[in-house]
Amino acid sequence: MRLTVLGCAGSFPGPESACSAYLVEAEGFRLLIDFGSGSLSALQRYAGIGAVDAIMLTHLHCDHMLDACTYVVVRRYAPGGPLPPLPVYAPMGAAERISAAYSAENEPVDDVYTFYGLQPGTFPIGPFTVTADRVNHPIETYGVRVEHNGRVLAYSSDTAPCDALLRLAQGADLFLCEASYLDGVANPPDLHLTGGEAGEAATKADVGKLLLTHLVPAWGSEASTVEAASAAFVGPVEVVRPGSRYDL
Ligand SMILES: [Zn+2]
Repeated sequence: MRLTVLGCAGSFPGPESACSAYLVEAEGFRLLIDFGSGSLSALQRYAGIGAVDAIMLTHLHCDHMLDACTYVVVRRYAPGGPLPPLPVYAPMGAAERISAAYSAENEPVDDVYTFYGLQPGTFPIGPFTVTADRVNHPIETYGVRVEHNGRVLAYSSDTAPCDALLRLAQGADLFLCEASYLDGVANPPDLHLTGGEAGEAATKADVGKLLLTHLVPAWGSEASTVEAASAAFVGPVEVVRPGSRYDL
């Protein structure tokens, strides 16, 4: 299984990165997890523009899904004819959200996407065994555990501390975890994690490596986020970049 970071900026695109999007590949199958603003650009560096086999949207905040609107054009109007409908695993309401953002007339997009409503549970997507569970964020949001050949990638999506996050990440080889907030300042409850909280979750879940993501451009501090995470987790800690690749 290979993870490629397409975009990792939290909440809005930064000068160096699109918003959240992660390409997960195995056996020639490409699963795109989240499709945030600007990430369609990065996708084209690492895959053919039409060569995505399934999409999972962990929640419907625009920094995690807006390029699924732009991508309608890519698939519907391909010069050789429309590309086959693409499975999209997403919270209920994704079809309406995407069509509303795509056109003022709420033009349906079900010729482009086949939607599957996410619910907590374990199910196959291509060669992957995927477990999704609700995490602690103001709208319906799913953290994800992706397994392939005995290797495990866990992804927090956006969340405040919660037990579901620890279950999803339990024993993961790679734990891709958001760290939006700075430690040591007052943060809103039930919204996001700090670097220190990401480190605590990594320790409790006994993961192999902590990959910090969703740091917020302009508002955050990478150095202090890494410092706080490393103080709470003795294993390796790394901040992901656009183009970061991990084979596991
Ligand atoms: Zn969010």
